[in-house]
Amino acid sequence: MSKQQFKAESKRLLEMMINSIYTQREIFLRELISNASDAIDKIYYRALTDDKIVFDKDHYYIKVIADKASRTLVIRDTGIGMSREELENNLGIIAKSGSLAFKKENEAKDGHDIIGQFGVGFYSAFMVADQVTVISRALDSDTAFKWESEGADGYTIEPCDKADVGTEVILKIKDNTEDDSYDEFLEEYRLRSIIKKYSDFIRYPIKMDVSRSKPKEGSEGEYEQYEEEQTINSLVPIWKKNKSELTTEDYDNFYNEKHYGFDKPIKHIHISVDGAVRYNAILYIPGSMPFDYYTKEYEKGLELYSSGVLIMNKCADLLPDYFSFVKGLVDSEDLSLNISREMLQHDRQLKLIAKNIQSKIKSQLQSLLKDEREKYEEFFKAFGRQLKFGVYSDYGMNKEVLQDLLLFYSSKEKKQVTLDEYVGRMPEDQKYIYYASGESIERIEKLPQTEMVADKGYEILYFTDDIDEFAIKMIATYKDKQFKSVSSGDLGIESDEKDSKEDEAASQNKDLFEAMKTLLADKVKNVRASKRLKSHPVCFSTEGELTIEMEKVLKAMPN
Ligand code: ADP
Ligand code: MG
Repeated sequence: MSKQQFKAESKRLLEMMINSIYTQREIFLRELISNASDAIDKIYYRALTDDKIVFDKDHYYIKVIADKASRTLVIRDTGIGMSREELENNLGIIAKSGSLAFKKENEAKDGHDIIGQFGVGFYSAFMVADQVTVISRALDSDTAFKWESEGADGYTIEPCDKADVGTEVILKIKDNTEDDSYDEFLEEYRLRSIIKKYSDFIRYPIKMDVSRSKPKEGSEGEYEQYEEEQTINSLVPIWKKNKSELTTEDYDNFYNEKHYGFDKPIKHIHISVDGAVRYNAILYIPGSMPFDYYTKEYEKGLELYSSGVLIMNKCADLLPDYFSFVKGLVDSEDLSLNISREMLQHDRQLKLIAKNIQSKIKSQLQSLLKDEREKYEEFFKAFGRQLKFGVYSDYGMNKEVLQDLLLFYSSKEKKQVTLDEYVGRMPEDQKYIYYASGESIERIEKLPQTEMVADKGYEILYFTDDIDEFAIKMIATYKDKQFKSVSSGDLGIESDEKDSKEDEAASQNKDLFEAMKTLLADKVKNVRASKRLKSHPVCFSTEGELTIEMEKVLKAMPN
């Protein structure tokens, strides 16, 4: 029996495909510019092995021309062009990618900057155009061909004239309908911003004729319009440049240009990794807290680029919550994208990158702490709370990463110290890391419970943040030392002699305590002699794991 081929209503299929793949119309321009860039890349790769081809950089560019009067938008490139067969195969067969084939052929060489792979991007033009014309002349060919289509009805190909090698894609932009306007795709400022957004780091110049005005000669106060060809994109992305060529000012400017923030970042981190997964990244630790940082509105994430083309605005998977304050971008050529190139196919590479980034951020924070203490304290003031949340959440899974980055106010130093510093100067007979919780440093200093510990010459960490005690409970022990609240029952410093004296006092005043207990029945659970009061007659304490401060926090939390 002979096999029948599937038949499909190709027009409907094309419409369905285009409209279900892409979430935003504007990406058609990203796709066409990416194709143009690939076409130039192909000449570039040819030139590497073919002496007859000279790759003169000035000759290779992409030009975008909008004409409102004829409602056309042209994307022109000086790339490798297409022969008649290539027009037929690459633009006539949906999901056929000449670029993927090229990449495979050239795998041995350095072909991995080529963007195309799925063979569908071109058709996204039909989201904004009702007719697409492609005029192309292939390298090594004298004749040019014109491919034309109004969608999936089919296409025509005929010979035509074209002076130079390369391709011109002409879109007849759709007329506005009642619900939709397409005029924006003929507006200079709009096209510019789309190019900036998605294609800023295409390696070849993307040029546009931009209208400008200048004072009219001879007549005061009057201006005249003129056109000027401008390169819209930034070409070489800052993250592909050599670190030694860049100054802190360059990084800071990039931070502001990208609108990561209006402040001056505390630190930038420039990463280039060429290992199991290749990627470049530029990350920033902001100088101040975004106004919405500790609210639900705040969205964490890094920009994600694939070979210089923007894929995702905020890729949340790249940052753990406790580093959600980090801004910046990641560019990798190793990502497996899904067909719309708006999402990722597998997250294996992404996970590797995320893990790598996490440890880089950590080590940078550690060196900031070590070498630039003041800056670190500034950072901690803004984002320390998030680190403590990080320790507390996920059942303390992240404490190893984060515990050395924490700072707490110290009774001894009268400033913020790390746990390492605290443990480093503990007297030999001190068993625990002591802490006291309260609303403010002043309040804590007045706590009766701190007196005895302080008298022993032991340092006390002051916890003034809600989350402090919860985080510490997760850490549990640091360098084999347990944490101990000064309000807890057994402080581990009472002497035996004092013990017996107080036991005696307890039994002698048993009746008094009983009476007090009855009087305060609805306020306290027990009244007993304390072993850690000195100049204060009385103090409150709790039994069990929770301290009074923690109970307050838990009570204040919405159920
Ligand atoms: P992809 O870029 O994923 O391969 P497209 O649908 O965007 O898919 O393009 C299909 C193919 O058409 C490309 O692989 C390439 O071979 C060819 N092509 C498209 N645009 C151009 C161009 N401007 N110059 C040369 N070839 C092109
Ligand atoms: Mg493409």
